[in-house]
Amino acid sequence: MGKDYYKILGVSRDATKDEIKRAYRRLAKKYHPDLNPENRKEAEEKFKEISEAYEVLMDDRKRAIYDKYGEEGLKGRVFSEEGFTWNDFTHFSDVWDIFGGFGDFFKDFFGFSSQKSTRGRDISTQVRIDLRDVITGTDREIKVRTYDTCPVCKGTGAAPGSEIKTCPTCGGTGQRRVVKQQGFFQFVSVTPCPTCHGSGKIIEKKCPECKGTGRVLREKDLVIHIPPGIDDGDILRIKGKGEIPSGGGIPGDLYVYVYINMPEGILRDGQNVIKRIKIPYPTAVLGGEIEVETLDGREKIKVAPGTESGSRITLRGKGLPPFGGGRRGDMILHIEIDVPKKLSKRAKNLLREYAKEIGIDPKRGWFSGRQQ
Ligand SMILES: [Zn+2]
Ligand SMILES: [Zn+2]
Repeated sequence: MGKDYYKILGVSRDATKDEIKRAYRRLAKKYHPDLNPENRKEAEEKFKEISEAYEVLMDDRKRAIYDKYGEEGLKGRVFSEEGFTWNDFTHFSDVWDIFGGFGDFFKDFFGFSSQKSTRGRDISTQVRIDLRDVITGTDREIKVRTYDTCPVCKGTGAAPGSEIKTCPTCGGTGQRRVVKQQGFFQFVSVTPCPTCHGSGKIIEKKCPECKGTGRVLREKDLVIHIPPGIDDGDILRIKGKGEIPSGGGIPGDLYVYVYINMPEGILRDGQNVIKRIKIPYPTAVLGGEIEVETLDGREKIKVAPGTESGSRITLRGKGLPPFGGGRRGDMILHIEIDVPKKLSKRAKNLLREYAKEIGIDPKRGWFSGRQQ
């Protein structure tokens, strides 16, 4: 049977597409190679495995073949009939939409991109924002050190005034195609042309600034927009803000990992935020008003008479919006009764008086009545 794609994604054999999508998204976030720098190799393997499972189970036709014949049936069919390659990751775009899509990343990742030599590498950076920024979204100025277009030759790689010719080896395509046979299967691999190194051009006199590569390493200032509703650890893809490839071509992308500073005493649960607050005993008993620091500033909140420790007060619309903006979730206050450590003599006497009133002798303990 080969690999068990259902087991790999941890879903049942009759899982719906939604369930498969959710399972994949969770695992992809966990095993994304960029998020596992210390055991990247292992993560890459795992990531490849779950991506393969996902690709098959999301496609009705491939899933049906897989269910009937297993992984082997799929392989035979894939290569012999339709020339299917792992390059056709049609489903990934909708999974990663909230991150701006991972299409090119996958192409590079699986090594199928024929444009490898003419597309720059992706780069990544991280930013920290405050929880309040999640409500409205925010713009951040960042610096990234990367290969950028050479200012002297404007990326051509040629010294000013010199000539650029078409490469005679590849005829300007920049590619070399090699057909390999392995068992019954035929693979076509595309490698950069050895003469022009993939550029398709031969430069007569190289630009002195960039040594003919058309790019220079420098620090770039960028302003990135972080949309509202973003979650801690989410990744934004900024298209074309990565490395400029040597010899010119399509720039790579910039991946921005977003982390969120959480204020003390606040927990996030999706669009809701949970906050623990203490209220004075008389307020709990008699009811009243308290001041609470919400995400929108200090606000007065009504406390009902007879509020117990451990109860909750929900502040509607005081939580966080969904990704991209929209109706905000709630702030949920977890109520605790504040027990004062220091009391004035008068306050103590009044409390004793109160204890007597409700039939408690504080010197003998709260449970003295029951223990006798
Ligand atoms: Zn240059
Ligand atoms: Zn060439």
